[in-house]
Amino acid sequence: MASTLDLSGLHPTNEAPVQKSDDAAGYYVLGEKLVDPKAPSGPIATRWTNRKFENRLVNPANRRKLSVIIVGTGLAGGAAAATLGEAGYNVKSFCYQDSPRRAHSIAAQGGINAAKNYKEDGDSVYRLFYDTVKGGDYRSRESNVYRLAEVSANIIDQCVAQGVPFAREYGGLLDNRSFGGVQVSRTFYARGQTGQQLLLGAYQAMERQVAAGTVQQFTRHEMLELIIANGRARGIVARNMVTGELETHLADVVVLATGGYGNVFFLSTNAMGSNVTATWRAHRKGAYMANPCYTQIHPTCIPVTGAHQSKLTLMSESLRNDGRVWVPKKVEDCEKDPRDIPEEDRDYFLERIYPSFGNLVPRDIASRQAKYMCDEGRGVGPQVKEVGPDGEERLVRRGVYLDLTDAIKRLGREAIEEKYDNLLDMYERITGENPYEVPMRIYPAVHYVMGGLWVGYDLQSNIEGLFVAGEANFSDHGANRLGASALMQGLADGYFVLPNTIRDYLADGPFEKIDESHPAVQEALASVQERINKLMSINGTRSVDSIHKELGHIMWEYCGMERTEEGLKKAIGLIRELKKEFWTNVRVLGSAESLNQDLEKAGRVADFIELGELMCIDALNRRESCGGHFRAESQTEDGEALRHDDEFAYVAAWEWGGEDGAPILHKEDLIYTAIEMKQRSYK
Ligand SMILES: Cc1cc2nc3c(=O)[nH]c(=O)nc-3n(C[C@H](O)[C@H](O)[C@H](O)COP(=O)(O)OP(=O)(O)OC[C@H]3O[C@@H](n4cnc5c(N)ncnc54)[C@H](O)[C@@H]3O)c2cc1C
Repeated sequence: MASTLDLSGLHPTNEAPVQKSDDAAGYYVLGEKLVDPKAPSGPIATRWTNRKFENRLVNPANRRKLSVIIVGTGLAGGAAAATLGEAGYNVKSFCYQDSPRRAHSIAAQGGINAAKNYKEDGDSVYRLFYDTVKGGDYRSRESNVYRLAEVSANIIDQCVAQGVPFAREYGGLLDNRSFGGVQVSRTFYARGQTGQQLLLGAYQAMERQVAAGTVQQFTRHEMLELIIANGRARGIVARNMVTGELETHLADVVVLATGGYGNVFFLSTNAMGSNVTATWRAHRKGAYMANPCYTQIHPTCIPVTGAHQSKLTLMSESLRNDGRVWVPKKVEDCEKDPRDIPEEDRDYFLERIYPSFGNLVPRDIASRQAKYMCDEGRGVGPQVKEVGPDGEERLVRRGVYLDLTDAIKRLGREAIEEKYDNLLDMYERITGENPYEVPMRIYPAVHYVMGGLWVGYDLQSNIEGLFVAGEANFSDHGANRLGASALMQGLADGYFVLPNTIRDYLADGPFEKIDESHPAVQEALASVQERINKLMSINGTRSVDSIHKELGHIMWEYCGMERTEEGLKKAIGLIRELKKEFWTNVRVLGSAESLNQDLEKAGRVADFIELGELMCIDALNRRESCGGHFRAESQTEDGEALRHDDEFAYVAAWEWGGEDGAPILHKEDLIYTAIEMKQRSYK
């Protein structure tokens, strides 16, 4: 493996882990170890440069004879379609929205990281690499992360050239701010709409290729199956969501850039449509799902107000640059107007516990501390009913303050408006409270998934010809993603990595010609039709949404911010019951031959249920705490995540075990040579 060839000589190679505890015994089968056949070697700083040179070229005339399917038009898919189209390949691009511009990436608020060191505050490629590996609690692959840090600067140049209106300082230079888990300012932003502006950049680059004829665009198309012929991914089955018609599309290579699956929890900050179907269908066809239990719970979201809600709203982490997080010191003050609580009675708990990083500790840490404060009874806002660990119902306040008062005093209201006005307007519209006058109330919510389809260094899954990019793959963030790193990864994958690695794959072309009559195509089409028929025919009494909500409740309760062996086992049992309930008692309205949002949702929820079970098994197996995966059984005396590198320094890559079979676990050892594994500390 790459690790043994590293020449940097910084740190000794660590030992491969040996797993001793096995809470999940009986829930899975242990498979062969997994080794990335494309893992690079050599000093970490030259790995990507060498790989780009070693990868074979495809001459421009031959590119016109090769085709690529890209599912997803968010930052990862949009960037890949634009770049591969520009290179001259025939690209077919798919999304389920009515425009590529509506991909979930548009919601990203806070910013995008890059190691430009414009502030001369000590940033560098190595520091971004270091912060990201540490932030992910040493559960990511170091070669991938280094490459990400390396190309980060190119992303900003590319986007500026496209006209993305990044915030600028008075002198005209691009401005930066800080995000959690770092002590430098490396986050580029466009007010609170960074994702939207970046997506418009990628979209216009893609539309240029649509006009040039290299990219064909299929909106309102949902991929429902992957076509694998002779061991290679060769196409997809998609449903035209307007007419209900099933279509097959074939190509020489397939890219999934289909985003994250946080909506398995029902309530999340993700767009309502975000789902797991594309990657889960590929998983069922043999693609490994890696670290599915690694979920990011973001500390600064508007708290849940009641059972009626179907969506949660993020307040960007960028607010933690200027906002101070606190709760009252005394339980009896929790009902008071926060403005009446004097300074000496406030507990700025993040600043108190983590003096070095203060309010800018990573998300997993800030989230857990907010939860502890509320568990102690020092939460604020309305009381909500919940069932405690003892099974008893209780009333708890689930909120902490994010207070801009000091910043407004220091910088003036205008400066704060300039940076955050759209976020603060959104907060006021949702809560009815003016954040310039009253401290905002926030609480952690599901936001992002670090898990996803397993890919090697070239972003190819274990299925030949199936590449996976953006949030849909597992690759770069380990057990916790740092803020502003998802946009960086999506654009790195789409603009810079895939165009270099896919060409090496395509250099093997021309590939065997296949058409609609190929048995693999027919089999995939028939299986989709059969599944739709089944969904339409159950005709039970439960709405799709009610089942989704129940699943979300189970996931949040037992596989959310804190996980235990007992809780996870209970969750697996409940999910299995829910799966039976779904397939015998769901009611899907409407018809399959037309626009049918109920049918769309039903397919997605069926996949979420299976994914939820695998997430719990993955979490059960990993009897350690790392990043966003917090096992109550594995914590330090201070309540921090306690890793067990001797047992769990591996990527858990799960193979589908069949409809009634147990999933098969393949372990890919994580071996660090350019960075030393340490207990994370932000104190
Ligand atoms: C509220 C919010 C704010 C955020 N802010 C930031 C931030 O400031 N900085 C940061 O770095 N990250 C941020 N993130 C995370 C970041 O936005 C996402 O991780 C990232 O945009 C994902 O991009 P993507 O291209 O991988 O997928 P997406 O943007 O989710 O796009 C997925 C695409 O796949 C398509 N698709 C999916 N399934 C199918 C299917 N079956 N058939 C056809 N098409 C399909 C969709 O139509 C869509 O086009 C934020 C996330 C949220 C929820």
